[in-house]
Amino acid sequence: MCVAQVLTAHLLPPWQALGSLCSPWAAPRVGPLPPAPAMVRISKPKTFQAYLDDCHRRYSCAHCRAHLANHDDLISKSFQGSQGRAYLFNSVVNVGCGPAEERVLLTGLHAVADIHCENCKTTLGWKYEQAFESSQKYKEGKYIIELNHMIKDNGWD
Ligand SMILES: [Zn+2]
Repeated sequence: MCVAQVLTAHLLPPWQALGSLCSPWAAPRVGPLPPAPAMVRISKPKTFQAYLDDCHRRYSCAHCRAHLANHDDLISKSFQGSQGRAYLFNSVVNVGCGPAEERVLLTGLHAVADIHCENCKTTLGWKYEQAFESSQKYKEGKYIIELNHMIKDNGWD
C-alpha cells in the first residue's frame, strides 16, 4: 500500500536494507568519541563558576584567578585574618562554605564558617554566620577574605 515501503523492499536485498537501517542508529550510540570535543569546549568556561562585570575593579583568587568580589562590595579593609590583613565583603562569588562553628575572635564570640575558593579549594577566610554582640551584628552574612589570597584584577591603574 505504501509506495516508499514497496520501493525499498524491491530495490534493496534484505541484508543491505538492514545494514543501511542499522548504521545511522548504531553510530552515535556506539561511538563515544564524536561528542567529546564539544563537551570539552563546554566544560572549559565552567572552570570559573561566575564572572564579575568586566568594567568593575575586582578581586580574584591569588592562586587560580577565579573572580571573588567586586570592589564595590568591599565594606572594610581593617580586619585581621589568621595570616595577616583581611578585607570584609558584602558578597562574594565562586566561594564555598564549610560548616559553621562558634569561635572567639578579637571582637568577641561569633558563629563563623570557613570559606574556600570553589575552583582551587584554597581556604580564603571565613563567613560571619552570626554575631552575638549587638555592635558586631553588621558583620552577619558578610565575608572575610585574607589579603594574601587575593589579587587586584582589572582597571586598578
Ligand atoms: Zn582559587
